[in-house]
Amino acid sequence: IDSKRRTVIAANWKMNMSLETAGSLITQLADTTYSNTVVVCPPYPYLYPVKLLLNQSTSNIQLGGQNVHEEDKGAHTGDISAEMLKDVGCEHVIIGHSERRMIGETDELVNNKVVKALEKKLTPIICIGETAEQYDQGLTKEVVSSQIQTALTGVTDLSDIVIAYEPVWAIGTGKSATAEQAQDIHEYIRSTIEKSHGVLADEVPILYGGSVKAKNAEEFSKMKDIDGVLVGGASLNAEEFKSIIQAFA
Ligand code: PGA
Repeated sequence: IDSKRRTVIAANWKMNMSLETAGSLITQLADTTYSNTVVVCPPYPYLYPVKLLLNQSTSNIQLGGQNVHEEDKGAHTGDISAEMLKDVGCEHVIIGHSERRMIGETDELVNNKVVKALEKKLTPIICIGETAEQYDQGLTKEVVSSQIQTALTGVTDLSDIVIAYEPVWAIGTGKSATAEQAQDIHEYIRSTIEKSHGVLADEVPILYGGSVKAKNAEEFSKMKDIDGVLVGGASLNAEEFKSIIQAFA
């Protein structure tokens, strides 16, 4: 890891947990302070209860949403705004996760959400990554560079941007990319950002996501362009998630 960049370990709970299990997971995680940025992203109904628990603790765990609407307010049944996320204590928001892209979220929509999040002082965790089919066709670099270029359109300040490279074939499959494969793509993503934004690319934490577990986290942590991880399944268990955090400490 390049010491210039901050390290971010983010938990994407997806549509999992209950009020009770969320509470006990947070209580276990929040018994300590972390040397890196640790972000938990619970489902919407649990954001505020989790925030209250975090406030009662001495931990420095931060809160993130899993999605956000691109507009400020109004007739958008079932959606929530960046301001609402801020209001309940979020500092981050995941944008463009592949599970949302799969149900119709385009690169342009992702870009609009990124711009809105930044306007409201939320740090977007922008997810990019190729599908299994694109991977098989050798299109990985083409896909991620076009995703990132569109996502960052109109964004000039990169100091509050986090990127997560998540190959779709590695998500929830138990089949992670190798650390070397991920490093190669991370380096490429950084060079793509450098073309549009120059040296600012050096500041952007690029996380790897896709079947990160306690047993493979350390390999990723050794790579120079892997600045943390976005963890799904393995973030639902306190002991396992803590050992992933530890691997990057
Ligand atoms: P996984 O999910 O760790 O369960 O593979 C990662 C993600 O989708 O963010």
